[in-house]
Amino acid sequence: MVLKEQACKKCGYVLEDPNTTDCPICQNKKFTTFWKGSVVITDPENSEVAKKLNITQKGRFALRIN
Ligand SMILES: [Zn+2]
Repeated sequence: MVLKEQACKKCGYVLEDPNTTDCPICQNKKFTTFWKGSVVITDPENSEVAKKLNITQKGRFALRIN
């Protein structure tokens, strides 16, 4: 069984390491596996998507968090 990755409830960051307890982006400690869609930001300064979502860090982010 594959567990769905956890996403930060605050900023949507998708955790690469399931043992992480603090969001590396916003230090939030609440995560959820109930999220839909994700976007990978590799160049936040030049990405229109990153600007729209107010993402300033590289990484994978959930688009919708339930
Ligand atoms: Zn976060």
